[in-house]
Amino acid sequence: MNLLKEIQNLVTDRSINPILRERILLLKDSVVKLTDENGDLKKEVLCLKAEVRHLIEKLSQKEKEMKNYITQIEQNTVSDPDDKCPYCKKYTGQLLKIEPHKTYADAGFKTGFYECSNCHKQYDKEIGN
Ligand SMILES: [Zn+2]
Repeated sequence: MNLLKEIQNLVTDRSINPILRERILLLKDSVVKLTDENGDLKKEVLCLKAEVRHLIEKLSQKEKEMKNYITQIEQNTVSDPDDKCPYCKKYTGQLLKIEPHKTYADAGFKTGFYECSNCHKQYDKEIGN
């Protein structure tokens, strides 16, 4: 049922009381205004829905990135501590201490002193800055 059409029919009905007709015309104005507002709100809801969808996509993308990042950190944490031993070639070199490099300390270089937990040899190597 079209509300505005119904109101129009009421207004043009000659048997209707003139005072009632005035009141109906006022109601008609309100209905027109509310219909416009409703249309605007519908458009706004559509825009907001699209925006929410976009934000959810962005959020799930960020979540993926974060998970990848965490996985990377976890892998690095597990594989980092042991150095490759230059003698037995196993990743069993344990860092004992770090000292400033004898020649290039000013450039930020350091020397790491290691002991291999497999062959028990000691070695040192340059660590960049
Ligand atoms: Zn070794």
